Amino acid sequence: QSAQEEPDTIFDKIIRKEIPANIIYEDDQALAFRDVNPVAPTHFLVIPKERKGLTGLRRAVKSHTNILGHLLLIASQVAIQEKLDEGYRVIINDGKHGGQSVYHLHLHVIGGKQLSWPPG
Ligand code: 5GP
Repeated sequence: QSAQEEPDTIFDKIIRKEIPANIIYEDDQALAFRDVNPVAPTHFLVIPKERKGLTGLRRAVKSHTNILGHLLLIASQVAIQEKLDEGYRVIINDGKHGGQSVYHLHLHVIGGKQLSWPPG
């Protein structure tokens, strides 16, 4: 467990390469990897390497501005890398009603087929 109030999640193990993941992008601040349970032909997650209190979007404060912007930029760049030319969707699930299951902020990027709207 790192020096944070909250316990590590499975994503910390992926960041530390303690468990395997299909990593498709990595830099000093962020990691993108394929979701183990994809809901669309392309489904990857973009996460900050250091959670810095961001268990979910609800914890965002001013000091997170740069990393939040970086994660969106990486989502866009990896979507291009993944050839999602026809479009895609970026989702952040927050808390119980949002259907969040892993309490380490992550952006879902899904695409590769026509998606429906609105969600349930
Ligand atoms: P949430 O429901 O919190 O928004 O999304 C968590 C996502 O993480 C889910 O889509 C789930 O399939 C994915 N996930 C959970 N555990 C693992 C794992 O060990 N490896 C990978 N690649 N994805 C995971």
